[in-house]
Amino acid sequence: MKGLAGKTALITGASSGIGQAIAIRLAQEGCNVAINYRKSVEEAAETEAQAMQTACGQVENCGVKSLLVQGDVSKEEDVIESIEMVVERFGSLDILINNAGIQTESPSHELSAAEFDRVLDINLRGAFLCARETIKHLLSRQKSGSIINISSVHEIIPRPTYLSYSISKGGMGNLTKTLALEYADRQIRVNAIAPGATVTPINQDWIDNPDKKAVVESHIPMGRAGTSEEMAAAVAFLASDEAAYITGQTLYIDGGLTLYADFRESWS
Ligand code: NAD
Repeated sequence: MKGLAGKTALITGASSGIGQAIAIRLAQEGCNVAINYRKSVEEAAETEAQAMQTACGQVENCGVKSLLVQGDVSKEEDVIESIEMVVERFGSLDILINNAGIQTESPSHELSAAEFDRVLDINLRGAFLCARETIKHLLSRQKSGSIINISSVHEIIPRPTYLSYSISKGGMGNLTKTLALEYADRQIRVNAIAPGATVTPINQDWIDNPDKKAVVESHIPMGRAGTSEEMAAAVAFLASDEAAYITGQTLYIDGGLTLYADFRESWS
């Protein structure tokens, strides 16, 4: 896609699921990829291997470079160090993908403050910290850039028993719009994608259970869950120059989940 080759992207939480697919897709488009992971270096190395294989095939030194960056996005010092590492290795940072996220389930009246904070710290504070450091870097070089937040359909659909997750994604919608407005005149675009149900490890609970999977898919007008690759394709578009005039938007990628599926049937 136009304008991606030779750029550098940092993808948080890229050792699995949607983040992994984004790293692979961006490498395929010719981007250098910095693969952030929190715990498993083996999984991150697997992402790196797949990304480089997709980008270069059998060609050595095809021009696309990669870096593994360990760090917890909710920790300010980790984020600052990670972005310094990326800039040191690649000379700059052009694209940030705020993908790292967790979800936990609990009736809201039993949700502990610590658990509430943990989800917000990773999903929202982490996205803010990574965006802040990326924007500082871009401004210091007077460079344009693109930030893409991986939100969720729960940016707008309330999700009972997942209160902290819903709030984090609702907040992410505002983070996207506020930063987009604040930095539009500096040519820093900020957008989000909002996946619907997607087949990734975060959903292992229903992926491995045919009955639960059928229930999940019965709510989706297109009748199936999405794939990480479908999410990555939209991210590549938003990060590219094809989307040069798009900022402050959340793109819902959900097989029609946000279309009020009950209206498929006539109510009269
Ligand atoms: P996933 O569990 O495979 O990916 C989440 C990644 O975030 C993991 O690699 C995990 O190690 C990483 N992570 C967690 N805490 C971290 C931290 N403190 N620092 C750095 N990394 C951390 O699940 P996924 O579905 O690929 O989720 C990716 C994003 O997509 C999340 O933000 C999630 O909310 C969002 N999303 C997923 C779905 C879905 O149905 N799968 C739907 C909507 C939104």
